[in-house]
Amino acid sequence: MGSPWGKIWQSEVMSEGIPDSVRTRGLFKRFGQQVAVAGVDLVVPRGSFAGLVGPNGAGKTTTLSMITGLLRPDGGITEIDGVNVWRDPVLVKSRIGVLPEGLRLFERLSGRELLSYNGQLRGIPRQEVERRSEELIKVMDLAESADKLVVDYSTGMRKKIGLAAALLHNPVVLFLDEPFEGVDPVSANTLVEVLQRYTASGSTVVFSSHVMDLVERLCDWVSVMNRGQIVAQGPLQEVRGGRSLNQAFLDLVGVRGGGEEEGLTWLGSTPA
Ligand code: ATP
Repeated sequence: MGSPWGKIWQSEVMSEGIPDSVRTRGLFKRFGQQVAVAGVDLVVPRGSFAGLVGPNGAGKTTTLSMITGLLRPDGGITEIDGVNVWRDPVLVKSRIGVLPEGLRLFERLSGRELLSYNGQLRGIPRQEVERRSEELIKVMDLAESADKLVVDYSTGMRKKIGLAAALLHNPVVLFLDEPFEGVDPVSANTLVEVLQRYTASGSTVVFSSHVMDLVERLCDWVSVMNRGQIVAQGPLQEVRGGRSLNQAFLDLVGVRGGGEEEGLTWLGSTPA
């Protein structure tokens, strides 16, 4: 093939023609005795607004960490746009944006300085960094706090500046771990608008969330995880199967710890 990327672009997994945005096969991770991810085959077609959902401890964060090159898998293959993440991490990292869980930022920089530093680390010319930073600050509604230190930012402001930093180099795929957690409805709306604009241009978003209503409203593709595996995956309508996504989720993962008649008999009773 004549591509300068040569063999790198040849998918070694299974896709023919245009590769999917994200593909994993048999992704596996164990922490001591605990199997966190037990052979995940995740697929996200290009241009999707994809939701990764699952109960607490299902393995979402561990999966996203392995896909984005932050955590080395014990087994399996991960490709982004047909490029093997763990064989060519530098190329992959230049093409993805990540908003990880427990986002760590340079607290002693202002929001504006943080974007500038990120842009320079990515090798973007200074003038272009400034131009993009100003636009992102404006769109994220951070203009008034752009010169405040990040340490003084609220949770929502941190998510917004984190998302701005993840978008600055114009990635082709954006991974977001619980982007709306702790974010007020106004800020959440801003994040949603930015993300919708981003996917409308053909880029891909993959985000994990517990908020089914939001996933149902935003996503056209859903992957459901339970106990370290994908239990359902496909276009939103298919996964829902005529139910609400919340009901489909409960049907798929099973309701746990119900037992109204057992335990907690003391709760709410009048103190003796
Ligand atoms: P949540 O929705 O609660 O964020 P999750 O789906 O993101 O959960 P993970 O954080 O990936 O789940 O965790 C999957 C399993 O792996 C859990 O049982 C968790 O306790 C375990 N685990 C995750 N990270 C570690 C670690 N660093 N060391 C030990 N066990 C871990």
